[in-house]
Amino acid sequence: MTTPGIRPLVAGNWKMNGTLAMAGALVSDINGRYRQAALKADLLLCPPFPYLAAVGGQLTGTGISLGAQDCHTGASGAHTGDVSAQMLADLGCRYVILGHSERRADHGESSALVAAKAKAALAAGLGAIICVGETEAQRNAGEEKKIVEYQIIDSIPAEATATNAVIAYEPVWAIGTGKTPTPADVEAMHRHIRALLVTRVPGGAGMRILYGGSVKPSNAAELMAVPEVNGALVGGASLKVEDFWAIAEGAAKSAA
Ligand code: PEP
Repeated sequence: MTTPGIRPLVAGNWKMNGTLAMAGALVSDINGRYRQAALKADLLLCPPFPYLAAVGGQLTGTGISLGAQDCHTGASGAHTGDVSAQMLADLGCRYVILGHSERRADHGESSALVAAKAKAALAAGLGAIICVGETEAQRNAGEEKKIVEYQIIDSIPAEATATNAVIAYEPVWAIGTGKTPTPADVEAMHRHIRALLVTRVPGGAGMRILYGGSVKPSNAAELMAVPEVNGALVGGASLKVEDFWAIAEGAAKSAA
């Protein structure tokens, strides 16, 4: 077990990919496998906003959770193109991914904004999956632990607890590149994050810390078995049922 007492979570971040037809086929395949498997891991699917209702309908009663990829800090108002956490909750979302490195880079999202979004998500009853991770230059400079520490301190709202928030450690240089840190590097970072959570978050010893960044079937078992890794945030591989399922099985095995 990678952290005694913590059930792994395997989350699929579809990003801006797929079609309605593809979403339907993918979810029905995952549902079929999940029904028969008694997997020792929780599964979460995070499709793009326009597909949330359809995917949510397919997931109803299955035990697999629905999540979104972002939300606004406000409850309502003049924010063209934005979506509130309460709207996501209305659609049956259980989680929302916040502060993904693509949002931090593409939309200039700061950790302070991520914390405000997480606060809104928690107020709406959603679980906040807060993403952190260093760039390649920061790792090469030996600054990765400091960077991640600052991101966590600044991105977690005061209301966060072990049950309503999840940290996803995603080295930016590993996302979508096929490159991954060594298991020893992942362990060092996850232990560092755990120590920080224990001092800053109520119940921090039991908070999930996911690893994300080029997780695939060939490395899932090894990465998911690393101490203090409590599941995965999966991008590209979550769009292929066989790959996503193999990763989920790898995470479940590590917790068995
Ligand atoms: C992600 O975007 O959260 C991610 C981990 O992507 P990938 O698995 O494709 O590296």
